[in-house]
Amino acid sequence: MSHKIDDLTEKLLECLEELDHYKANLDTWTDSLDELSEIEDAFEADSRNKLHGKTILDIGTDCVKPLYIALKFEPDKIIGIDEDLSYPYTSDVEQNSKLFTKTEIKLYNCSCFNKERLEKILTKEKQTTSDFVLISKTLHHLRTGECIAKERDQNHECHPDEECCIYKFEEQKIFDRLLQLGKRVIVYEYFCAPEEDDDKVRGRGGYFTTEEWRQIFRHLSENYRVELIKPLRCHLDKKGLKPVIAKLRQIDCICFYLEQSPDG
Ligand SMILES: [Zn+2]
Repeated sequence: MSHKIDDLTEKLLECLEELDHYKANLDTWTDSLDELSEIEDAFEADSRNKLHGKTILDIGTDCVKPLYIALKFEPDKIIGIDEDLSYPYTSDVEQNSKLFTKTEIKLYNCSCFNKERLEKILTKEKQTTSDFVLISKTLHHLRTGECIAKERDQNHECHPDEECCIYKFEEQKIFDRLLQLGKRVIVYEYFCAPEEDDDKVRGRGGYFTTEEWRQIFRHLSENYRVELIKPLRCHLDKKGLKPVIAKLRQIDCICFYLEQSPDG
């Protein structure tokens, strides 16, 4: 009897897990729509609100945003990359979007750190530089430095699986690299430092702290042209840093874009 109950419990748990998985996939469609409503002003479409002739590289794509962007703004081409393209609708979006939009959508399983593979893809797609590089909810995954978890938790010790590790975010490297891939880099980021980042892989992930944001924005304002889109629309320079950092404590989403500085 107890065997049977154990079996049933196990089956039920499996079903619940599967249900969670479906729900997460469904949530992507509404979350993506929310994100796009915050991001869209950063594209600066033409007078007809289109991006005709433009190209986009979507790093860490959810495979859904390219479809929404194609339907609304009609750019020429969107390449989406992610190192774990596990959504069940990936190939449907890629194939069947052709029925609804002239925008070419290409989705690839590729990490943006895999320079060689990414270059091959971009050469094949004839899109070595894009007009826009979109980094949505992905910037905090671009951590490449040594583990800094000890700064947050004195008792931290690095384990082989690095589950609790958090790599340092190397702003000097990352943004230069991103600006090699496109003329305008659009960043949308969700952050809530005390909250657990549930799609963190090894030390790559963990939301930014206010101190990390301060460093990132200081570096950006000194080296690039930076425009803030949300929560307020303004040009970001060294003088404007303080109120922006203060504002970060009250919000958990931010959108900005950067380009090469006109005098640099
Ligand atoms: Zn560690």
